Amino acid sequence: MTTFLATEDVVTLTRQLGLEQTLRQMTAYIEADFLRWEEFDKTARVASHSEVGVIELMPAADKDLYAFKYVNGHPSNPQVGLPTVMAFGALAEVSTGKPLLLSELTLTTALRTAATSALAARVLARPASRVMALIGNGSQSEFQALAFHYLLGIDTIRLYDVDAGATAKLRANLAQVEGLELIVCHSAADAARGADIVTTVTADKTNAIILDASMIEPGMHINAVGGDCPGKTELAADILWRASTFVEFEPQSRIEGEIQQMPADYAVQPLWEVLAGKRIGRRTAEEITVFDSVGFALEDYASLRFLYDQAQARALGVSLELVPELVDPKNLFGEALGAATAVSAAPARATGVLAA
Ligand code: NAD
Repeated sequence: MTTFLATEDVVTLTRQLGLEQTLRQMTAYIEADFLRWEEFDKTARVASHSEVGVIELMPAADKDLYAFKYVNGHPSNPQVGLPTVMAFGALAEVSTGKPLLLSELTLTTALRTAATSALAARVLARPASRVMALIGNGSQSEFQALAFHYLLGIDTIRLYDVDAGATAKLRANLAQVEGLELIVCHSAADAARGADIVTTVTADKTNAIILDASMIEPGMHINAVGGDCPGKTELAADILWRASTFVEFEPQSRIEGEIQQMPADYAVQPLWEVLAGKRIGRRTAEEITVFDSVGFALEDYASLRFLYDQAQARALGVSLELVPELVDPKNLFGEALGAATAVSAAPARATGVLAA
């Protein structure tokens, strides 16, 4: 049988564990899998583009487990009452191909993206960072805010969104978080002023300039989350020329990340090598660092692994016969449909339905 986790099951898990622990444990799973980087079969995601958005399939596998995520990105979806990003995915056993888990991944994507951002900032931002600008206050934003608060000790967040309603929603959602000050700003430049870390998490299918070089101060770490598709970026190229840029899976980032704007020989550094201690992240307090986040399948593999372990430990979700459970694995027809079904095809043929 396959375990199925609906959105309400991941909500239950998050409430049982607490959001801080959920983010911490998910971060630990993601880090553990980044540290096993060379054991994975890695592929840039397969994207199907339309004028208004994209639908993507994201596979990753090691010798034991195979995972995929289906995810969309449609920045105008909120206007029709749908989230910009929606996702689901599966985890399967490599030895047989049997699906172990089918799960919601919309909420999980927001959690894993924030966890990965915090993981990158842990090795790239200045250790004493306390102030973060958060530009783009939509669905992902509270998760980003809380991951940086819980995992990095960020205590002040400077908010900006072109939609004041989105900022008001974020403030209402996080009003009761102890030790977190939220400051509403009137422009991206205002938000970035004096920040140690700048997170950009806007949605617009265009080469936007959310941050330009005039807004960047020495020592800033930029967590660029929203630019994740061809023709969809957030940073001015000038910033990238001044910065040290870190990526997840370079072949995918060259197509989808901020670095799609840069020449092919623009140097980038793999995040996993910094996490593994094979390379230094930030070198000086004045250096500008960029995490050019696009979201890599390994993060979803790790998240599905976390969900599966939690579902088993807490008996969450339901068992589904997603694939047939057969006594005789060669008797799909007989056990699933029964011999009588073969006979019932006859009248349809007599009336010419099949011929038509
Ligand atoms: P959302 O639509 O819920 O929120 C986006 C917000 O950005 C909106 O409130 C919108 O008003 C704001 N915005 C748009 N243009 C702006 C601008 N010029 N200045 C300030 N604010 C602006 O979307 P979401 O689910 O929060 O996702 C945000 C972005 O993150 C999307 O582009 C999505 O594709 C991306 N994303 C990336 C990853 C990753 O792993 N890197 C994962 C999930 C989502």
